[in-house]
Amino acid sequence: MTLHLFNTFSGKKEPFVPADPNKVTMYVCGPTVYSYAHIGNARPPVVFDVLFRLLRHQYGESAVIYARNFTDIDDKIIRASQETGEPISAITEKYADIYRADMAALGTLAPTQEPRATEHIEEMQGLVSSLLGKGHAYAEQGHVLFSVKSFDQYGNLSKLPQDDIIAGARVEVAPYKHDPADFVLWKPSKDDEPGWEAPSTWGITGRGRPGWHLECSAMIRAGLGDTIDIHGGGQDLRFPHHENEIAQSCCAHDTGGVPLARFWLHNGFLNMGKDKMSKSLGNIVTPHELLESWQGEVLRFALLSAHYRQPLEWTDSLLEQSKKQLDRFYRTLSDLADIEAIDTEVPASILAALQDDLNTPEAMAALHALRDRAATATTAPERAQAKAELLAAGHLLGLFSHDPENWFKGTSSGDGLADDIIDALLDERAKARKEKNYARADEIRDELAANNIIFEDSSDGTTWRRT
Ligand code: AMP
Ligand code: ZN
Repeated sequence: MTLHLFNTFSGKKEPFVPADPNKVTMYVCGPTVYSYAHIGNARPPVVFDVLFRLLRHQYGESAVIYARNFTDIDDKIIRASQETGEPISAITEKYADIYRADMAALGTLAPTQEPRATEHIEEMQGLVSSLLGKGHAYAEQGHVLFSVKSFDQYGNLSKLPQDDIIAGARVEVAPYKHDPADFVLWKPSKDDEPGWEAPSTWGITGRGRPGWHLECSAMIRAGLGDTIDIHGGGQDLRFPHHENEIAQSCCAHDTGGVPLARFWLHNGFLNMGKDKMSKSLGNIVTPHELLESWQGEVLRFALLSAHYRQPLEWTDSLLEQSKKQLDRFYRTLSDLADIEAIDTEVPASILAALQDDLNTPEAMAALHALRDRAATATTAPERAQAKAELLAAGHLLGLFSHDPENWFKGTSSGDGLADDIIDALLDERAKARKEKNYARADEIRDELAANNIIFEDSSDGTTWRRT
């Protein structure tokens, strides 16, 4: 099976092959660093980390160039600086460091490039000059705007009707816009705001700063080139952010109508109840605080429990379930601690699930099947093979990075038998039965019964509950 990805641009699942067989380029829009990211903001980095790992597996580690930016110049950052009295650079440094640490705790690999917007102002100005020169932009009252009417492919990604485009452009009273759908490429800065002198050819004077959309177009071009293989982000970025990135890049580049990205991938929302988790609604919980009570892998497991294009409801029960499932995996790995894992390939079941548009729920089901096999393996070679397969599969998903003993350290078992102990006993019972050691199997049944645990065997495995 080859990798298939759902391309928002075509609205179809398509086979993925990079433009250059020896290189894959991917860009994911990163955070604006003025406060803590919320767990919804962590969904794209975790989802695209799985894709990054899969691409590295398929094309080789050094062949995949993955850029995730930091937006470190933005109105919200300026406001945060004015409110706290802290310099902008101190705020952006602090929250970029926190973001990096929190994403690492969620098991994401460091991207190949982490460009910062303020390091690419020259490239942004270059794009604006080019757009002005070609008649795709105009200067008005200290601003430079992109003329949406000048690009007949505008709207091809979001496929929105013109009316929605205008509504979506969040029309404020903006006397400098020739058309309500036009968007800002460059805007003037007040004296107490950061800014850069505009080139004299633009026909505006004074200091100014880039619009958000322009930042990504410039960073993509600087780090990855005119056309990249994969562009990712949350589905709210499809319009206007990604539509505007396309318009700017395609019109500014001299490469004659080549697309900005060959594949556009968008993750669904993480919700609290019915609402999208968002800072503006105030219904947020941050990985930073969650990590005080939960291991990073638990958060990662929870984030990957739904398919990336589907909504994911964030609940306590999701976290508890994720922890419980990971405990089972670690219990099995702990039981296999005495045996050395051998070199092995990632099992085909895991690869097939991920190659099917990153179907992580199916990959997790396959992971459970591997665990069941590992838990009931009897001979030393079987156990070594099963352990190796489980670890290889986990590694591709960014899981099982802990030593099993450390995983369980500090987790309290509360009253009665802890869930993972029950799981371990049931695994042992299954193994005993397989070996026809019915005496041991009965002993375990009795022990569980004495602890008020009843269980039922079915073709899907064994389920249990407390009485
Ligand atoms: P922002 O800081 O709002 O630009 O968001 C950073 C990234 O997180 C973008 O890719 C957004 O699309 C994504 N994002 C924001 N809120 C959510 C959410 N509730 N669920 C999933 N992704 C989100
Ligand atoms: Zn972007």
